[in-house]
Amino acid sequence: MRVVVRFRTSNLSFLCTPNKKMDRMLTSFQSLLLLWIKCYVMLVFTYLLLGWGVIYFNRILGPDKKIQSRESSQQATTRDFWQSIKSLISVSLMLAGGLYCQKVGLTLLPIKLTVFNTIPLLLISMVVFDTWFYWGHRLVHTKSLYKWVHKWHHQSSTPTVWSNNSDTFLDNCFLQSYFLFAPFFLPISGYILVAHKLYDQITGMIGHSGYEYSAGQLSRFPSPLVGVSFHDLHHETFHYNYATHFSYWDRIMNTMHPDYDEKIKTFEQ
Ligand SMILES: [Zn+2]
Ligand SMILES: [Zn+2]
Repeated sequence: MRVVVRFRTSNLSFLCTPNKKMDRMLTSFQSLLLLWIKCYVMLVFTYLLLGWGVIYFNRILGPDKKIQSRESSQQATTRDFWQSIKSLISVSLMLAGGLYCQKVGLTLLPIKLTVFNTIPLLLISMVVFDTWFYWGHRLVHTKSLYKWVHKWHHQSSTPTVWSNNSDTFLDNCFLQSYFLFAPFFLPISGYILVAHKLYDQITGMIGHSGYEYSAGQLSRFPSPLVGVSFHDLHHETFHYNYATHFSYWDRIMNTMHPDYDEKIKTFEQ
């Protein structure tokens, strides 16, 4: 007699066939993790390479271009360095999150890049981020948020190139989350987002270098561009110069440091 053993496939399916939903979730998680690692490596590499480069160029520029007469202590420099290495983990997660959401189609469809639209799209992203940064920065300077969110960054009143990313996770949630949310309201390609983040990383670090690199007409009124003294004055005097790429929000809102333009002129001689 032939005995046929049959299994109820519905009960054993979890052993025989892969759980597709679980598989998809795992693939998504791996994809996000990979993007996160790539973004972190890119930002840390930029941070270290540019940091050492700026220290080398500061020596060449000499004391005439030094903005403050004070020196940052070794202890403060070491604190800022290690906090930046830590903080770049959350900064890169936000960038990777934005890129990932775009990749899986959760965001606006990005405009296809051409030779004609790349620079204008990058400029649009810079203008929108500057607005995000200015108002977010004003917000984290309010009494209720400052202590919890932004106080850490202001421990250095004489910033160094290593101070740029010396922020807390909460601070990054306010100021760096642009790179997570931008693809939801701007149809910009991931390449533009990465290029903008790199630009922000480079100019941010130079902006904390403590030496005036870009004194000239382009860094003072009526130009909307800024020199290193712009953010240096924010650290030194605390209540002025909240924007990052441009100066027009501070000029419109009357939060521009009154001596900024004159200070730039002194470095032009
Ligand atoms: Zn601040
Ligand atoms: Zn700063």
